Amino acid sequence: MALTPLVPVAAGALGAWAYGTYEPNSPLFGRAIGRGPTRERVAYLTFDDGPNPRATEPILETLAASATPAVFFLVGEHVRRFPAVARRVVGAGHEVGNHTWRHRKLHVLGPRRIREELERAHELITEATGASLRTFRAPHGYRNPFVRSVTRRLGYTVFGWTFGVWDSDPRVSADEIRARVRRKLRPGAIILLHDGDGYDPEGDRRRTAAALPGIISDARAAGYAFRPLTDLLPAGAR
Ligand SMILES: [Zn+2]
Repeated sequence: MALTPLVPVAAGALGAWAYGTYEPNSPLFGRAIGRGPTRERVAYLTFDDGPNPRATEPILETLAASATPAVFFLVGEHVRRFPAVARRVVGAGHEVGNHTWRHRKLHVLGPRRIREELERAHELITEATGASLRTFRAPHGYRNPFVRSVTRRLGYTVFGWTFGVWDSDPRVSADEIRARVRRKLRPGAIILLHDGDGYDPEGDRRRTAAALPGIISDARAAGYAFRPLTDLLPAGAR
């Protein structure tokens, strides 16, 4: 009988742990920015899991043609394979962020492996692009307390997202990707899209690339302006 009061406490702690681990914007394991200001019609485009020549290149063309900023959260291993594409992203004036070395789910890793995933990607991306990295997004948003100490040491601001549209699902067409973004768009939204596949450097993300011109024109028609995600960095990190 003496033990029963502990049960809800333990369940609550486990619930909180799961919230911190699986909720991409949870503050439990360090702050993650999941949305911008909600007072104005602004939105932020983010592309994860690249670089990937067949999708990143057409996406860069669309962004250039429409003068739209974006951030690309790069996988170190993909940068190693396609360094010229990563350089093109930086050369076009877009921010690149760290998305780990091999897209590992960090919540199941210990401090040494987490440090390796982040630091190795940091070195690879910095060396390949010459960019100074300021932002990090965890694969799938999964974090644990060890992630925070590494991101803090590397000086990163951690980002989550406001909504994704499952654009990595091969059953979702370009038209459907576009329609989902249009339906979910709201002020301050950080939009999660994919120009790569975390586990397959040749993964097909051409549907996302094909959806992008429509996504941008729909948003502008609804009165939205796309801003660089770096606008949301804390003052000291800009
Ligand atoms: Zn990812």
